[in-house]
Amino acid sequence: MKTIHFIGAGPGDPELLTVKGRRLIDEADIIIYAGSLVNPQVLSGARQEAQIYDSARMTLQEVVEVMRAGVQAGKQVVRVHTGDPSVFGAHREQMAELDKLGIPYDVVPGVSSFLAAAASLKREYTLPGVSQTVILTRMEGRTPVPELEEIGSLAAHQATMILFLSVSQIGILCQRLRQGGYPADTPAAVVYKASWEDEQIVAGTLEDLAEKVEKAGIRRTALVTVGRFLGDRFERSKLYDAAFTHGYREGKVPDTVPGKTGGA
Ligand code: SAH
Repeated sequence: MKTIHFIGAGPGDPELLTVKGRRLIDEADIIIYAGSLVNPQVLSGARQEAQIYDSARMTLQEVVEVMRAGVQAGKQVVRVHTGDPSVFGAHREQMAELDKLGIPYDVVPGVSSFLAAAASLKREYTLPGVSQTVILTRMEGRTPVPELEEIGSLAAHQATMILFLSVSQIGILCQRLRQGGYPADTPAAVVYKASWEDEQIVAGTLEDLAEKVEKAGIRRTALVTVGRFLGDRFERSKLYDAAFTHGYREGKVPDTVPGKTGGA
């Protein structure tokens, strides 16, 4: 029986697909992809005979049925998710069904949209002296969010926060972030279609972002990023500090700062 491959298609730019992901897509007999978000160009190298299904129109049971029938007919099946499947990808429920059927699968990671957004913004999420924590979350919509992860309580940390699936509620979102603990002047930016040709960035603060985003008409396929990582104040890293010694480099002034750092 052939192994089904779950593949992260990346954020949009078809070149932001792993070499492995591309090869597996190009070799596949059956491709099931999330048509609402995956750039169709990611499938441009698919074999002419490949059967292609858009999962946007399918239920979980229908997707699993295509996988089962394909594998039983000896076909190579790939399931293509946007960004990386582990972030709001809904691939866990598919893997659970495949487990029940005894069908083997593996996962090829992809470039998540939150990573493409940092690249577009030309910012680092984990700045020394600013934030060493990144929270990936969403506002509740039709899918609820556990009570302990309510936006306000996460905001209390004033960490770097990336909100998926939430831009359509930008007004209430910014309000809750402020109520929860971020000061009104906290920088915030929306990245629409990161890495696509029609990418757009709207930047502001928690005070004025909602208005700007509404004016720009952005209602979907966007991330809301929040935190002082967007600002210009930060400390230099210890990793490249001449006075700091670690496993790969002797410090110039070895006695001043002890220990190792965790960066790369
Ligand atoms: N697994 C995906 C996320 C799927 S949930 C990933 O790793 O990126 C879908 C949400 O992801 C969208 O509502 C939007 O918030 C975000 N998203 C996906 N692609 C995006 C892109 N290119 N630019 C900005 N946001 C994107």
